Amino acid sequence: MDPVGVAAAPPEAGPGPAWRNKCPWGAPNTTSISCSLADVMSEQLAKELQLEEENAAFPEVVAVAEGPFITGENVDTSSDLMLAQMLQMEFDREYDAQLRREEKKINGDSKVSISFENYRKLHPYDSDSSEDEVDWQDTRHDPYRADKPTTTPRKGFIGKGKDITTKHDEVVCGRKNTARMENFAPEFQVGDGIGMDLKLSNQVFNALKQHAYSEERRSARLHEKKEHSTAEKAVDPKTRLLLYKMVNSGMLETITGCISTGKESVVFHAYGGKSATEDKVIPPECAIKVFKTTLNEFKNRDKYIKDDYRFKDRFSKLNPRKIIRMWAEKEMHNLTRMQNAGIPCPQVVILKKHVLVMSFIGQDQVPAPKLKDVTLSSEDMKKAYYQVLNMMQQLYKECNLVHADMSEYNMLWHDGKVWLIDVSQSVEPTHPHGLEFLFRDCRNVSQFFQKVGVAEALNERELFNAVSGFNITADNEVDFQAEIEALEKMNEDHVQNHGKKLSMFSSDGDPPIYDE
Ligand code: ADP
Ligand code: MN
Repeated sequence: MDPVGVAAAPPEAGPGPAWRNKCPWGAPNTTSISCSLADVMSEQLAKELQLEEENAAFPEVVAVAEGPFITGENVDTSSDLMLAQMLQMEFDREYDAQLRREEKKINGDSKVSISFENYRKLHPYDSDSSEDEVDWQDTRHDPYRADKPTTTPRKGFIGKGKDITTKHDEVVCGRKNTARMENFAPEFQVGDGIGMDLKLSNQVFNALKQHAYSEERRSARLHEKKEHSTAEKAVDPKTRLLLYKMVNSGMLETITGCISTGKESVVFHAYGGKSATEDKVIPPECAIKVFKTTLNEFKNRDKYIKDDYRFKDRFSKLNPRKIIRMWAEKEMHNLTRMQNAGIPCPQVVILKKHVLVMSFIGQDQVPAPKLKDVTLSSEDMKKAYYQVLNMMQQLYKECNLVHADMSEYNMLWHDGKVWLIDVSQSVEPTHPHGLEFLFRDCRNVSQFFQKVGVAEALNERELFNAVSGFNITADNEVDFQAEIEALEKMNEDHVQNHGKKLSMFSSDGDPPIYDE
């Protein structure tokens, strides 16, 4: 959909009810811009991206409009254009409803009926937003089915007396051609021609039809390509453009290929380029984590972010696309905290929307092996264990974080030490489920090191106490878990009553005091 077209639809004066000129955007603008259809098509992506950049400067708090026109879910109104479009859409809806009433009044019970379908403003593909966007407004219910072009009755003419018009009439034929444009594929941009009183000559119509068909075939081919390319699986055109921009700006030298495709992200390897600013050095090798912008995956993970008070206020006002960006943002913040505490982890290079660039852990395009895949001497394994114990304590005490997905899958062995990665889901310990996440992390870690034969490895309960500074004495898992949940509940009750979180740990490393 042409994002500008809807808001600026020039309602040309013409036959039809007088009220059809009533446009909320003031005087109709009838100047036509002369450019070829091909130009319009190629500008499409650029326009969309421009629009997105304008309305989604991140981070931002999105205003929520509750006007007479908008009902249901919160709608992103960060852009005036979007608001204008929605108003125009609402106007068009009312206009069409009125049109239908008018039509009904005129036709009554008559066998021969006339149709105003040509004048309708809203069309099925008006709601068809660009392929990979998952805005709330995309789910808007569209009550209109596909239009049929008006036809002249079999007798070949309409009207009476001197007002008679035949099917060969230039005007009728032209309008009919305009209406027939709706039979083109929905992706085919016919602009606002259908809503206007356009008269297309047969010659122009046929040329358009040819073009529409070849566009349809081309887009089917493109679609197929997109679906089948594995390396670029999660990379939609917009993401690709973001990546190209990074290479174009010289920040990255080349993007060599994909390291990992997961449920929530795809990770690429790239060679670093030159930084625009002197004070920043781009690492020679980078990892690019692209967070997937699909609805399903984010649903599974929203519990990590919804209750994180750092993001709580923003969460409810955002659409899925923005929540995905918050994942990337969260990973960036968490990595920065870890970096500051001196925990070995990727160093953040840049964050652009849902794309996070960081330093690459590994060498010559080969990523460091995960702890689960590496074969270490028992000496090294023991060293790794103590390092992990140390990192968990640092993470908790110095970074005020719980990893929440800690396991041998998210620890890499590189340069003779363990590197922590994948921290988009990490939360602060005061998160309503923070301590449960920590306990789960402890279970993974202690089970792994016990399995690989580190005799010194604490069991999960001992590890939990060692990391958190709590002193839970339960000697079995069930009771231990119950105490953890009781602690979390106490904290939540405190928030309810006092509006702020209890400090779960004190600066001198003593166990926190829970004596309210
Ligand atoms: P996911 O949520 O998909 O598990 P991760 O952040 O764990 O995302 O990344 C997936 C995989 O990509 C990791 O297991 C690791 O092999 C690789 N990877 C991620 N970040 C880096 C990095 N900075 N350097 C090297 N490899 C990385
Ligand atoms: Mn991972």
